[in-house]
Amino acid sequence: MNEDRPFFSNLKCRECGRLYPKEAIHICEFDFGPLEAAYDYAAIKESVSREAIASRPQTMWRYREFLPIDAAPTVGTQVGFTPLVKADRLAKALGVTELYVKNDTVNYPTLSFKDRVVSVALSRARELGFEIVACASTGNLANSVAALAAAAGLRSYVLIPADLEQNKVLGSLVYGTNVIGIHGAYDQVNRLCSEIAGKYGWGFVNVNLRPYYAEGSKSMGFEIAEQLGWKLPRHTVVPMASGSLLTKIHKAYKEFIHTELIEKAPFSIHGAQASGCSPISEAMKKGSEIVKPVPKPETIVKSLAIGTPADGYYAIRVMKDTGGHAEDVTDEEVIAGIRLLAETAGIFAETAGGVTVASAKKLIDSGKIPRDESIVLCITGHGLKTGEAVQNRCGEPRLINPSLREFEALISPTGENTEKLKS
Ligand SMILES: *Cc1c(COP(=O)(O)O)cnc(C)c1O
Ligand SMILES: [Zn+2]
Repeated sequence: MNEDRPFFSNLKCRECGRLYPKEAIHICEFDFGPLEAAYDYAAIKESVSREAIASRPQTMWRYREFLPIDAAPTVGTQVGFTPLVKADRLAKALGVTELYVKNDTVNYPTLSFKDRVVSVALSRARELGFEIVACASTGNLANSVAALAAAAGLRSYVLIPADLEQNKVLGSLVYGTNVIGIHGAYDQVNRLCSEIAGKYGWGFVNVNLRPYYAEGSKSMGFEIAEQLGWKLPRHTVVPMASGSLLTKIHKAYKEFIHTELIEKAPFSIHGAQASGCSPISEAMKKGSEIVKPVPKPETIVKSLAIGTPADGYYAIRVMKDTGGHAEDVTDEEVIAGIRLLAETAGIFAETAGGVTVASAKKLIDSGKIPRDESIVLCITGHGLKTGEAVQNRCGEPRLINPSLREFEALISPTGENTEKLKS
């Protein structure tokens, strides 16, 4: 990369705009506003083109000029560029004409969109000289930190609420990381992590490295635009935990417009939560910008159960500014959403995916998303990690002995002519 005129120039306060050096800091000293990465867009515009990007390997790093590291990435170099699936059968079920699924259930290596953020955070952690990395997590982030740290040879600690799904816990333990289960909700885990980060100086991907981590989410937005043929969907539906992914998809769309990689066109970004922990959606529906904390989340959607969402206010601003809406759904609707996506698109998503599908359905049925405009659903994690949610809710295998007679009795219990069922 260009050393004299780096694309990634500074950290910058989102509130007052003060510039900061590119260190492991995340809060403005003057107003406690969050810091985010700032870029030299004129330099980026001069040096990137659609053709240049399209000629690069199919990973999130094909957008490297828009990501906050100084040199080439060293962690998670194969992450991203997941399929954008045109989901016609799901579109029909939802009664819309043009629908796509951005399928991060198959993101590399840990089957959730968190591999994007961790790949950036750990590449930057190495540039800053950290040897121990850590995170506060609702499960997926822990899996990704554990895996990518293991591959990079970094020591890691992941702190999680003690009551997570079995496979999310196993999906961290297997990499030999230090898994610390906390008796408490995510907010308490996060507060403890802030104390540890201050005292031990470790690289917490979503605390002191948060400005770097958060930028990784933009790659999902860049990919959507490129995969749609260098244009934006009219509607994007995004699940919200802290609200960060939603704000970063917005930033990605705006950066592509600003650097003229795509043409300016109207777009709306909608947010989705689970009703048992929906502080952002509640505020948005009330027309308020004040996010009221949820002290005790109660939902099967553990990945989105953040009671005090760090980016809630900014997510609301994005939804308002783009003419988007928020919606939230019950656990029963989440399960129905998971099954609908699986049965119509062949994609098995975790509970957050059920939230996105079920919320999209509500937004469509209420007319907030018109049926004849293009829609992308962001499906962010794999269903095998949250098996408990749909265990015993999808039927049981029918058991027989290895006998043709028993098989035919089974597929034709009423004694109808089995000839009809032969293809
Ligand atoms: C982390 C996560 C999100 C969104 O998180 P934000 O904090 O809002 O960026 C969405 N889906 C899944 C599966 C996640 O793990
Ligand atoms: Zn500030």
